[in-house]
Amino acid sequence: MLRIAVIGAGIVGASVAFRLARSGEARVWIVDKALPGSGTTSASFAWANASEKTPRDYFELNRAGLEEHFRLRDELPGEAGALWLHPGGNLEWSEDEAALEGLERRVERLRSWGYAAGWRRASWVNEVLEPNVAFPSPNTPVAFSPEEAWVDAPRLVNTLVELARREGAETRFGTAVEEIEAGDGRVAALRLQHGERLPVDAVVNAAGPEADRVAALLGRRLPLKPSKGLLLRLAVEGTPIGRLVHSPHANLRPDGPGRVLVHHGSVDQKLESDAEARNQLGRELLGRARRVIPALAPALADAEVEDLRVGIRPMPEDGLPCVGAVAEIPGYYEAVTHSGVTLGPLLGRLLAREILAGEVDALISPFRTDRFARAR
Ligand SMILES: Cc1cc2nc3c(=O)[nH]c(=O)nc-3n(C[C@H](O)[C@H](O)[C@H](O)COP(=O)(O)OP(=O)(O)OC[C@H]3O[C@@H](n4cnc5c(N)ncnc54)[C@H](O)[C@@H]3O)c2cc1C
Repeated sequence: MLRIAVIGAGIVGASVAFRLARSGEARVWIVDKALPGSGTTSASFAWANASEKTPRDYFELNRAGLEEHFRLRDELPGEAGALWLHPGGNLEWSEDEAALEGLERRVERLRSWGYAAGWRRASWVNEVLEPNVAFPSPNTPVAFSPEEAWVDAPRLVNTLVELARREGAETRFGTAVEEIEAGDGRVAALRLQHGERLPVDAVVNAAGPEADRVAALLGRRLPLKPSKGLLLRLAVEGTPIGRLVHSPHANLRPDGPGRVLVHHGSVDQKLESDAEARNQLGRELLGRARRVIPALAPALADAEVEDLRVGIRPMPEDGLPCVGAVAEIPGYYEAVTHSGVTLGPLLGRLLAREILAGEVDALISPFRTDRFARAR
């Protein structure tokens, strides 16, 4: 039986480990220097979608990633599947003409690619879906992608880790991988921070924004251009919104009962590393959220800022996923990507198949590791 260690228990690593363990064909270890799901996976807007994904290959991968979430939900036992996936779709609108034209082009492209996307009037949205959301006018055109969803990604990770454990996977949490032994060029063992040595036949690098450092343990150059994002989690009265909302001012979504998550790319661009700037930007996000849900302004004013977190997107240099075997280091695999919440379960299934059966699915073949050269 193949002995395989997965480095990183974020949504990507947990998904790979779950599929490997479930296959019954591998002895699996899941190693994380912290707790499962505590990396970028817990600092993500977690919108499962293929909305702004180009080129076409990348769109198709994300579309399949979104579908995989529903497949996984139906596959998981009992209530486990229903608790982390939150369908309901996504609403998006623009206030200036140029942005509206861009959104129209995107909806048109998505429709021509067979993706569920269309238009509604703001008045319809207020009547049928979201009574609390403020639009510029009742006639504002609102793009609606009904099949998109948000994911409680830390919950999914913990579910997958638990299921992997039940299938016999072993876990090592709170200990970093410090060395990867590669005897005659082939991966042979991991050395962990606390001194343990795990003899293995294969290793999956799913270390998210730190995947470049893990790759460097083998002399491999994996160029990342990580970017930061700010997420504001509010404790609010009731359920002010029921689904994903992308407005020109702020993006919002529910985050479980009595919670709303707020994010916006324009705020990310201003993000500085010092805490004071971060708090100021958090207040800016709160103000923006109030503009989108003014009816709830008093409640939002009282809303407790439950959490203000900076997440680091694990972004390969060219912005596209990096998935699969690294040919010059037998036994070494990578699974590093932005959009990891959308893609995690799909990459998990496809990479497990590649590791166990040597089959590279057409969906991941455009995103191979060999586009980044080895440093030495
Ligand atoms: C602000 C923001 C918004 C986002 N919005 C979306 C979105 O709407 N939709 C979407 O699909 N994606 C989104 N993403 C991207 C998505 O969140 C990530 O792609 C995904 O969470 C990456 O998961 P991962 O498992 O690869 O990494 P992580 O969750 O970071 O997991 C990596 C794990 O590796 C561990 N690790 C690192 N080094 C070592 C080591 N040496 N030894 C042992 N363990 C190690 C870490 O502790 C960590 O737990 C967003 C990201 C950000 C920051």
